[in-house]
Formats: sequence, structure tokens, C-alpha cells
Amino acid sequence: MSAQTIAFIGVGNMGGGMAANQAKAGREVLAFDLSPDAVARAVAAGCKAAGSAAEAVAAADVVITMLPAGAHVRTAYAETILPNARPGALLIDCSTIDVDSARAVAEGAKAAGFRAVDAPVSGGVAAADAGTLAFMVGCADGDFEAAEAVLKPMAKAVIRAGDAGAGQAAKICNNMILGISMLGVCEALALAERLGLDAQRFFDIASQSSGQCWSLTSYCPVPGPVPTAPSNRGYTGGFATAMMLKDLKLAQEAAAKSGAATPMGAQAEGLYALFDRLGHGRADFSGVIQMLRGKLDELSV
Ligand code: NAD
Repeated sequence: MSAQTIAFIGVGNMGGGMAANQAKAGREVLAFDLSPDAVARAVAAGCKAAGSAAEAVAAADVVITMLPAGAHVRTAYAETILPNARPGALLIDCSTIDVDSARAVAEGAKAAGFRAVDAPVSGGVAAADAGTLAFMVGCADGDFEAAEAVLKPMAKAVIRAGDAGAGQAAKICNNMILGISMLGVCEALALAERLGLDAQRFFDIASQSSGQCWSLTSYCPVPGPVPTAPSNRGYTGGFATAMMLKDLKLAQEAAAKSGAATPMGAQAEGLYALFDRLGHGRADFSGVIQMLRGKLDELSV
């Protein structure tokens, strides 16, 4: 691929590492964020500071957004990106947002003559920094190859989910599995403790049995069995409960609109909402086990 200029809007926890990996791959990255500190970190990692979002967009072949939620993406597209982008620019939104916003933004972009792609990610800040995110892509058939080439320096996998909005749909369905499975693992470990089972022994058994799942074997919510899991760091870092709650809310909204029955997803949303309401929104979502164990006093985040 020829050298590209990328406007990167939103270089926060995730976008910062992602933009840095684009710069490392030899692309010119024009970074913009409302936070001057975030821009300064991006510049230190090889990006250029853009004077404004409009200036970055006007100079770019590709525009990548990594913003908090649907409203931010809708506003950025309507007020900054569509009025300023170069003809033929490829517009990629990597934020996690609601499916309706993703489709509305893509339709607006298409009507204005642009190629638009939704490409939310799986993997947290560590994967963003390491360039090992999984991208779930929604776009027109013919746009996938170009999107994949752009996303590669940030990715371990780039998978097309379907047309516009399909990437977001896959993302919220995946995270609904994660939210529910983590609660199942937490409940089982809390019960095992009450029954006098040693956590490591139960882990060894369940991880070789039908209870095996990612929440258990890659992200065990009790310290010890998986040394890299946030449970070993007092539930700091990792994937914040508030973020999990956001994704579960998006799943419930989508379920209500589409008529899907997702009672376990609703329960999971309720439990993480309670954990958040009790003041632990910044804790890793696996910290919810401390609520189930009745040990919230042991949680410092
Ligand atoms: P963040 O809050 O660290 O970053 C968002 C950045 O956007 C901030 O720096 C903020 O200043 C900036 N911003 C907000 N409005 C802006 C605007 N109009 N113009 C320019 N910049 C603006 O959040 P994050 O953790 O980087 O998450 C970003 C997105 O990635 C979210 O949609 C989130 O759901 C998704 N995500 C996060 C994770 C994770 O583990 N953190 C994992 C997967 C997906």
C-alpha cells in the first residue's frame, strides 16, 4: 500500500496506542483529541498534532475515529468529517457504539460519496498498544480489502461481519457472551469457596471440563490460576465495569428493538449496574466476584 495520511480522532486509552502503531507502520498520522494530554502522548509516540479535527480530516486519505459513544461519532461525522473529508476518503469508526448510530453514520457518509466502515475492536488497552486487536468489520463488500489494509498494523485479526453496522452488532453480541460468562464463572467460584474447594484445584478441574471458557481460563476472577488476570492486581486495569455496562446496555437496547429474547443479558446488565452503583465502575468487570462473595470491603477500586 502506498504511504497514507491518517486523521486519527480520539487518541485516548485505546486510540493512543492504535495511532502509535499506525505511525510505527510508516503512515503519517494527524492526531486530534479534545484532551491536550492525549495529543501530547500521541505526538511522543510518533504522530503529528493536528490544529483541529477539520484540518486533520481535510489532509487525510483515511479518517479513523475512536470516540466514547454514538453521540460523539454522529456529531463528529455531521459537523467535521463529512464537510471536510477529501473526495474518496475512507472513513473508519473503531468506537463501540449502537448499531443504529453506526448505520445512520454510514448512510450519511455514503450519501456524501464516501466509503464508510464500522470496525469496533475486541481486546483492551494492552492489545491496542501491542497492535493485537481483533476488528469486527461492517462495510460494503468492495470496501473490505482497503479497510483491512489500513487496520492491519493495529490488528491480530480483521474479520468482516457483514454490511454497515454488522461490526457493531457482532461486538455487542460478543460482549454479551463475555458479561454473562464472567458472572457464571464468578458464581461458580464463590460457590466452590463456600463448599470448601481449593480455588486452584477447582480451576484445574473446570478448565479441563465443560465449564471451560475464556472468562475462566484467560481471565480467572480469583487471584492465582491466571497470573496475567486483573484479579492478581486488585481488579485494577483490564476492562472497566462501566465499559462492560455500556456494552450490555447497547445489547439490551438492540434486543428490545429487534425483538430478541436476552433474559441472561438483562440479568447481567442489572448486576454490573449494581456493582457500578456501589462505586466500582472503574474496577475490572471480573471484580464483580467480590460483590457475589459479600467481600466488597476487600475491593479498593
Ligand atoms: P477514552 O475516554 O480513553 O478515549 C476517548 C477519547 O475521545 C478521549 O481522549 C476524549 O478526550 C476523546 N474525545 C471525546 N470527544 C471527542 C471529540 N469530539 N473530538 C476529539 N476527541 C474526542 O476511551 P477508550 O477507552 O479509548 O475507548 C474508546 C472507545 O473504544 C469506546 O467506544 C470504547 O467503548 C471502546 N473500547 C474500549 C476498550 C477498553 O478496554 N478501553 C475496549 C474495546 C473498545
